[in-house]
Amino acid sequence: MSRILKKLSKIFSRGTAKTIRVCPRCHSPDIALSTKFDGWLTPEIYVCKRCGYRGPIYLEISVEEETNADESTS
Ligand SMILES: [Zn+2]
Repeated sequence: MSRILKKLSKIFSRGTAKTIRVCPRCHSPDIALSTKFDGWLTPEIYVCKRCGYRGPIYLEISVEEETNADESTS
């Protein structure tokens, strides 16, 4: 049980979990925030360069980086 807690706290304290934004339609990471519209009137619009999706919604996925070398080798 304590092992699980340890692992959990490790995950939360790590802070190295990287999140990237992907297109909600085709899941391509090739989306960009469109700056063609004035931000004070319209919400932020994301544009997918692959499928042409345009909208304020994007998917955010977390990427596990392979940085556990310090744990296993030391
Ligand atoms: Zn797309």
